[in-house]
Amino acid sequence: MKISFSPEDEQFRKEVAGWLKTNLTGEFEALRFRGGPGDEHSFPQERKLWEQHMAKAGWTCVGWPEQYGGRGLSINQQVIFNEEYARAGGPGHMSHIGEGLAGPTIIAFGTEAQKQKFLPGIVAGTEYWCQGYSEPGAGSDLANVKTKAALNDAGDQWVINGQKVWTSLAHESDWCFVIARTQPGSVGHKGLSFLLVPMDQSGIEVRPIEQLTATTEFNEVFFDNAVTDADNIVGQPGEGWKIAMALLGFERGVSTLGQQMQFRNELEGIVRIAKENGAAQNPAIRQRIADAWMGLKIMRYNSLRMLSGSEDGSLQREAMIYKLYWASWHADLGKLAMDVLGPDSELLESGPYELTRLQSMYLFTRSDTIYGGTNEIQRNIIAERALGMPKEPKGRQ
Ligand SMILES: Cc1cc2nc3c(=O)[nH]c(=O)nc-3n(C[C@H](O)[C@H](O)[C@H](O)COP(=O)(O)OP(=O)(O)OC[C@H]3O[C@@H](n4cnc5c(N)ncnc54)[C@H](O)[C@@H]3O)c2cc1C
Repeated sequence: MKISFSPEDEQFRKEVAGWLKTNLTGEFEALRFRGGPGDEHSFPQERKLWEQHMAKAGWTCVGWPEQYGGRGLSINQQVIFNEEYARAGGPGHMSHIGEGLAGPTIIAFGTEAQKQKFLPGIVAGTEYWCQGYSEPGAGSDLANVKTKAALNDAGDQWVINGQKVWTSLAHESDWCFVIARTQPGSVGHKGLSFLLVPMDQSGIEVRPIEQLTATTEFNEVFFDNAVTDADNIVGQPGEGWKIAMALLGFERGVSTLGQQMQFRNELEGIVRIAKENGAAQNPAIRQRIADAWMGLKIMRYNSLRMLSGSEDGSLQREAMIYKLYWASWHADLGKLAMDVLGPDSELLESGPYELTRLQSMYLFTRSDTIYGGTNEIQRNIIAERALGMPKEPKGRQ
């Protein structure tokens, strides 16, 4: 089993690190280590400019095929790129939903015309995307979506009515991919379609939801006779479930592998504070720091195991434990951070409600075990698909 990177990969690592060292400076210096989970509200416009800067040097969409504007990097090199990006303190990607989800889905299932229309804006960092899946009655039970879409009389536009919720960065997005029910009277995963909808129109209202962190990373999105062109549908009408599930494969896959370096940055910050404030003298804290470090190593080796087992880039059964593992680990790291800070964890640096990075991290990690599939749902997936246990009985017909 191959669990290391080749000399060529290590050479590539130097190239990435060198470019970031030279470029993440000057006007972009303030963005270092900003905009990650829990901090996504900060510097949105500046981060978009940074992405446009990266695009000019060919450092966006690095895993996409070259014919669609990517670099065609191997999975190993994508991991290296993401590791070095996090090590250098590269700001959270404003484009992660476009680059990691919408783009790969359009590449896999879109028409050539859709590829020409939508991919260049993602690569250039000029068009941003959000994900219109969840609804008040459809989260884990996603197939219960009620948002409806129908072609108008002329047959040239879809008309969309309904509501989405928890839509990350909708307020910063130009496009939304929406799962909508296009077959009247259908239930469950039948009769759904996958539509690409422009956000800048009178039929769409975006209402921010204030989170525990007092920031508004996600939103409610209301569709009141919103429209999109008839050909802005990926796949055929009624094929939305198949497309939506394939997209979740991208969400649970390669795009999350590089985040371990960001976790390492956080753990190193916590260890530094523990040394400074004496918490590191506490045997229970020392043990938890050691456990966190081991968890990080396990995540790394599990990633390498997944990569080495996958010549064609498809994800193996090992990938199914990844979301459950990192989400639980990160939630624990948030608690560890607060315990290392001790009473300081309850103090704010400045008023009226400005959280420190670790406080914000702690609160946001409460959501890690929810988004992208809750821990309970991940356990169901592992039980049914990896362990071959009987399927969960369906509550709804
Ligand atoms: C930070 C954040 C960002 C998000 N961004 C987006 C976004 O951009 N776009 C988008 O569409 N959605 C987004 N979501 C929504 C996310 O996908 C949903 O929150 C998630 O799918 C869970 O759905 P729910 O909130 O409706 O909870 P529910 O599905 O109602 O679940 C409630 C509880 O019941 C448990 N449960 C449900 N079904 C089962 C079962 N069958 N077996 C065992 N336990 C079960 C769950 O695990 C959970 O603990 C985001 C969520 C968060 C927290």
